[in-house]
Amino acid sequence: MTSALPPNATIGIVGGGQLGRMSALAAARLGYRCHILTPEPDSPAAQVAAGVTLGDYEDPAALRAFAAAVDVITFEFENVSAEGLDLLASLKPVRPSPAVLRISQDRVLEKSTLNAAGVPTAPWREITTPASLDAAIAALGLPAILKTTRLGYDGKGQALLRRPEDAAAAFAELEPKPLILEGFVDFACEISVIVARGQDGAIVAFDTVENRHRDHILDLTIAPARIAPAIDAAAQAMARQVAEALDLVGLLAVEMFVTTDGNVVVNEIAPRPHNSGHWTIDACPASQFELHIRAVAGLPLPPAGRHSDAVMKNLVGPAETALWPEILATPGLIGHLYGKAEARPGRKMGHVTRLFPRGALPGDFGVAAALGVLGR
Ligand code: AMP
Repeated sequence: MTSALPPNATIGIVGGGQLGRMSALAAARLGYRCHILTPEPDSPAAQVAAGVTLGDYEDPAALRAFAAAVDVITFEFENVSAEGLDLLASLKPVRPSPAVLRISQDRVLEKSTLNAAGVPTAPWREITTPASLDAAIAALGLPAILKTTRLGYDGKGQALLRRPEDAAAAFAELEPKPLILEGFVDFACEISVIVARGQDGAIVAFDTVENRHRDHILDLTIAPARIAPAIDAAAQAMARQVAEALDLVGLLAVEMFVTTDGNVVVNEIAPRPHNSGHWTIDACPASQFELHIRAVAGLPLPPAGRHSDAVMKNLVGPAETALWPEILATPGLIGHLYGKAEARPGRKMGHVTRLFPRGALPGDFGVAAALGVLGR
């Protein structure tokens, strides 16, 4: 299918989390229905969607029922098995393509694809045995980070190796194997660029943003990133290069490190809306979710410009979520809650955006002050 999806058509979204919820809300505004595939009853996405198939991502019957209910398929969760992806792709158009999903599922495939396209990453080695880990440590030096190649998120499935003696225990502990060893990047800051590419190959990219993590979970996104123009230009060019190299149709988040010596290297990519793009809902005429839906639906992509600068703060776990009444009572804080029943520690429950006139982003102390009860 190459033409635009007509109004009232149904977009299938694999995954029931907040990314699916916000994608479904954007799709509804454009006149589409969304149908969610998720194993979770009462998921954030299904609460705002026209339909849901409750089932496991690996269950062929559930995948078939889901595909039968939709016109096109996309993802908010990318860890569907190769067999599951092939089955979906045999039934309905899948965007981004299964090939892109597979690359993003596997850190070794991801890094080799990026490097082959001329995109720099941390130096890395695939690790299959304790001996290959010793050899990789000899080649890359320490500190280094040992990661699972698959199913890692928010710092899970990772171990920092400081001394050679750390290697054996980390290798034994991390599952599933194989693993990847990455040289430690001495970074000044973490940034990301979200890029959309349409069916016609047109590319638009949101402004580069700066990301701050706490306990391995994204805490703050500052838009735009406060980086030198040359670094910004390198980051923007790299994100477009990745989208081209993958022949992407859809949305892609490219997370990068700015090294202390002023270089940009890619950390990881995610072919879906991304937490570091939530600010675009409030600060841009068309959000990352709208661009996701537009690309998947074959609609033209509008410019990804921002009308305001922004700070986005995640609401993580019970303590921050308990501040919701005060957040709502604070002028200037724009609240988003995802409808999750239980605020477990480390769980992303919502986010808050604060807008500033373009060019008027405050420094760190000003950001904390602007977040009111959340900045303390
Ligand atoms: P990841 O799951 O790969 O995004 O890693 C989670 C976080 O760990 C990143 O946001 C960084 O703060 C840190 N990290 C990951 N890989 C490296 C690396 N090679 N060098 C330094 N820090 C890293």
